[in-house]
Amino acid sequence: MSTRVKDRISPEREIAKVRDIAVIGAGMAGCALTRRLVDAGLNVQVFDKGRAAGGRMATRRADRLQFDHGVQYMTVRGEAMKAQLADWQRAGVASAWTPIGLDASPRWVGVPGMNAIAPRMLWGAEVHMETAIAGFGRDHLGWWLETTQGRLPTCFDAVLVTLPAPQAALLFGHCTDVDVAAFVDAVRRIRYAPCWALMLSFDTRLDTVDCLRPAAGGVLGWAARDSSKPQRDSAHDCWVIHADPTWSQQHLELSAEQVQPLLLDAFLSAVGATTAPSLCRAHRWRYARVVEALGRDCLWDADSRLGYASDGCLGERVEDAFDSASALADRVVRGGGGC
Ligand SMILES: Cc1cc2nc3c(=O)[nH]c(=O)nc-3n(C[C@H](O)[C@H](O)[C@H](O)COP(=O)(O)OP(=O)(O)OC[C@H]3O[C@@H](n4cnc5c(N)ncnc54)[C@H](O)[C@@H]3O)c2cc1C
Repeated sequence: MSTRVKDRISPEREIAKVRDIAVIGAGMAGCALTRRLVDAGLNVQVFDKGRAAGGRMATRRADRLQFDHGVQYMTVRGEAMKAQLADWQRAGVASAWTPIGLDASPRWVGVPGMNAIAPRMLWGAEVHMETAIAGFGRDHLGWWLETTQGRLPTCFDAVLVTLPAPQAALLFGHCTDVDVAAFVDAVRRIRYAPCWALMLSFDTRLDTVDCLRPAAGGVLGWAARDSSKPQRDSAHDCWVIHADPTWSQQHLELSAEQVQPLLLDAFLSAVGATTAPSLCRAHRWRYARVVEALGRDCLWDADSRLGYASDGCLGERVEDAFDSASALADRVVRGGGGC
């Protein structure tokens, strides 16, 4: 009898059991998860330690100039991401970028900056920025979260973590009430390469193409005229330079002040210029690009209702973070078994 009653539980009743969800991290994975879960009628609260949502899809503002110093552009392969891109275009937050110096294959950027996309996806959720989650656990009321200031007042039916794997491993390590060993083992297998980024602005336009992709093994990995992207201020010649991954690893613990002249010299000699920039800032991305992915679309424990999604599950691109989040959203909404 009890088996028959259980068998009759409809998917809708399973959904009803999970109502209040905490999403930790508001990069592409956290944003895509939030969009799907809010659209499914669930209450979602998002927590991110940063000042603006978007994670590595970031735009830095300095001296009234702006730079996409993380993600340079998105490529779109799958049908789900194509549909999402169409929504961003309709909303006016994404546009095609056709830089001189690269082939003509489609590349997409956020407008007026890369970080314009995240707010569009978080609509309908309660978003807590500048809120670093330091630990979490579960008691008879549900999941709780804490910052360095103490425990937050709300309890949740499910917690979904979307941080880069090393930061997720640290957070899982602080979870004492639930056995999260399988999560820790899995995320520890994901590896990232770091990246030093340099933001430059010149008062006069450099006489060169919009993009350079030097051969691997040197100082530079990528250089792009950020101001050639759509809806940017073209009055200033703004550039974003990314150091080669090996060079970034070798110079990871230098300060920004030490790295700036090294990258600037390499860039100026690559483009044959001697002009001094009016602005020069470096930024270190400790976990920039995934070099070893997990090879599973997401992690979900249906019993405890703990999940993990990020680019690190599937690959190194924004679309991988999107696909991982979509897979986890499917699991949460269906209320189904683990993965
Ligand atoms: C320099 C660089 C260049 C790149 N270029 C490209 C490119 O051209 N094309 C492409 O497709 N991809 C590119 N990528 C990769 C792309 O950025 C990622 O694949 C994607 O953005 C990952 O999204 P995510 O949500 O998984 O992680 P993230 O964007 O890292 O989001 C994680 C979020 O978690 C937050 N967080 C961390 N710890 C805590 C905590 N304790 N509490 C609360 N919040 C926390 C962070 O603030 C962040 O917002 C690039 C990345 C970098 C860094």
